[in-house]
Amino acid sequence: MDALILIVEDEAPQAEMLRYNLESEGYRTALASDGEEGLALAQSLVPDLAILDWMLPGMSGVDLCRSLRASDATRAMPIILLTARGEEGDRVQGLDSGADDYVVKPFSPREVMARVRALLRRARPSLSEEELSYGDIQMDLAAHKVKRAGQTLHLGPTEFRLLRALMERPGRVLSRDRLLDLAWGREIYVEDRTVDVHVRRLRKALNEGGQVDVIRTVRGEGYAIDDVQ
Ligand code: CA
Repeated sequence: MDALILIVEDEAPQAEMLRYNLESEGYRTALASDGEEGLALAQSLVPDLAILDWMLPGMSGVDLCRSLRASDATRAMPIILLTARGEEGDRVQGLDSGADDYVVKPFSPREVMARVRALLRRARPSLSEEELSYGDIQMDLAAHKVKRAGQTLHLGPTEFRLLRALMERPGRVLSRDRLLDLAWGREIYVEDRTVDVHVRRLRKALNEGGQVDVIRTVRGEGYAIDDVQ
C-alpha cells in the first residue's frame, strides 16, 4: 500500500496544492486544518510522514511536532515543517522541535516532493525497492509473487498486502487498526476480527512447508514479523 502522508495546514489553497501533488505521485493523503486535528489524525492513522505548517491557529506546527515526538506511535515519523519564516534562528528552532526537514514558503511543489521522497526512502527503504525479504521469505512486489524457501506460495490479495505491511516493518508490532489501514485502506469499514482471520490464513500459507512461524501475535497489541516466539 502506498505511503500515507498527513498534511496539517490551515491555508486551504496550500493544503490542496500539497494534496494534489502528493496524490499525483501516488501517495495517499490525510488533511487537517489545525494542530489539534492534526495530532488526533496522526495518532489514529499513524501516517508514514507528516508535513506541518508552522503557523497554525491554536497549537503551532512546532508544538505539534514536539507532541508527535513525545508519543510512542509517532516518535519515528518523518516530519517536514513548512514556514514563511526564513531566519536562521527559526530554522534551528524548527529542527530543535524534532522536525527532520524544513521548507521555507513560498516553495515549489517539486522541492517538497523531493524532500518527501528522500525522507521516506530513509525511513522505509523498502518503499523504493521491488523486492522484500525476511529470512527465507521473498516478496516480489512487481510480479506479486511470494516464495518461502524457494517454493512459490499462493496468497490471496489481502494476505499479500498484510505480509507486505509486516515485511516492510520487521520487528515492529502493528496494531489491528494499523494493519487495517495498511492492507485494506482507511476508507473501508472492516471489523478488527477480520484481521485475525486473514493473519491466520497468511500464517497457514507461510507455514505450509512446516517452517518456523515468523508471525508473532502480541496479545492485546497486534502482530509483528520477527523471530521472537
Ligand atoms: Ca498557516
